[in-house]
Amino acid sequence: MNEYDSNRILDLFKKIGYTRTENISETNCYVLNTCHIREKATDKVYHDVGRLKKEFRNKKKPILLVTGCVAQAEGEEMLKKESYIDGVFGPQSYHKIPKIINKIEIEKSRVNSTEFDVIEKFDNLNLIKTKCSKISSFLTIQEGCDKFCHFCVVPYTRGPEYSRSNNEILSEARQLIDAGAKEITLLGQNVNAYNSKNFLLSDLICALNEMSGLERIRYTTSHPKDMTDDLIDVHKNCKKLMPLVHLPVQSGSSKILKLMNRKHNIDDYLNTIKKLKDKNPSIKFSSDFIIGYPGETEEDFKLTLALLDEIDFINSYSFIFSPRPGTPASKLKNIDKKITKKRLISFQKKSEEIIKNYHQELLNKKVEVLFENSINKDGKYFGRDKHANAVMVQSSQDLTGKIFDVKITNFNQNTLFGEISL
Ligand code: SAM
Ligand code: SF4
Repeated sequence: MNEYDSNRILDLFKKIGYTRTENISETNCYVLNTCHIREKATDKVYHDVGRLKKEFRNKKKPILLVTGCVAQAEGEEMLKKESYIDGVFGPQSYHKIPKIINKIEIEKSRVNSTEFDVIEKFDNLNLIKTKCSKISSFLTIQEGCDKFCHFCVVPYTRGPEYSRSNNEILSEARQLIDAGAKEITLLGQNVNAYNSKNFLLSDLICALNEMSGLERIRYTTSHPKDMTDDLIDVHKNCKKLMPLVHLPVQSGSSKILKLMNRKHNIDDYLNTIKKLKDKNPSIKFSSDFIIGYPGETEEDFKLTLALLDEIDFINSYSFIFSPRPGTPASKLKNIDKKITKKRLISFQKKSEEIIKNYHQELLNKKVEVLFENSINKDGKYFGRDKHANAVMVQSSQDLTGKIFDVKITNFNQNTLFGEISL
């Protein structure tokens, strides 16, 4: 979502005459878009500001804006702590930048804009065509969260659940496709909680499925509780919807899920997986896991490992529990760091084995790849198969934006290598 937001911030800046630069030393406005989901993000901001100060020690200082969830969480505090920062903008107020930038530039005012103006934000963004289309593009359809998992900072930094109207989403999708997108990933903190006047995520996927020029549809991140039957059905009926479901479970222990306030238990989770598989047997799953949540015993952890075996997730993203300020879990007693580290290592070892076996099974098989870009001038191309596996091939023709069958000939932990199979 931060990538989507960064692109929209760039669209806003382009509108007032700025262009993007990769060269820090020539920048006259520097925007640091931040994430607050795990700790150290705040430290990273101050570290980056330090680097910038050094770079501009003997030159005119650029305008420095901090956007995103760290800005939302820290607000005024950040302006007090670091005089080099000119403005902080929360994730629901960055649309105000073009109007305020003059104030900062000319009046040298310092700005704290951390209101939750999500409707106003999208009303403003809808007026600007997106110029940041890629072969595989992101499109935010829903923001915020009302679920309040005890470990999570999102409801406090992104605010309550909000769904954009279906018309504005479909019109933005058309812009992205006309500018070259072949794949659209619909985004939301709880993307499957999407509901705009009873127009649901399943309705949106069906509408996108009919759009000419679009080849692939994905959505992320889903909450297991919102995986409703209508959404499960579209996995059978909408051919452009890719057969990979990212469904964060967090733990294999129902006891821990209850402590986390997750609102689903393991039986519910397994039942949803079964329903999806029954509708479309080619579906595979990926998930997020929090290791070492307060109260997690060795037995609970073993249940998490057992779930890995049971589902064969093709990607498992694991994070050591990180206490976030203001969340209920931040007040709980943490598990010894040595134990959590040990658990994380054994979790990752197991998930890597599962992925290795999965990649091994793909050897000499054909996968359908949408190519996104060339990696170098020697004709190496990068793309993803239907299950979002990264695939690389060598080719003398430009493959960008095209879909080809690829025979897999080799692999490593993160990438499949192959040759175009004609
Ligand atoms: N809304 C999604 C869901 O409910 O499954 C998750 C979105 S969250 C932005 C992405 C992931 O970050 C979570 O699935 C969780 O695994 C991880 N995460 C969130 N808060 C965390 C914390 N305090 N410590 C460690 N990991 C955390
Ligand atoms: Fe955070 Fe997801 Fe829980 Fe919402 S549902 S509080 S975004 S982990």
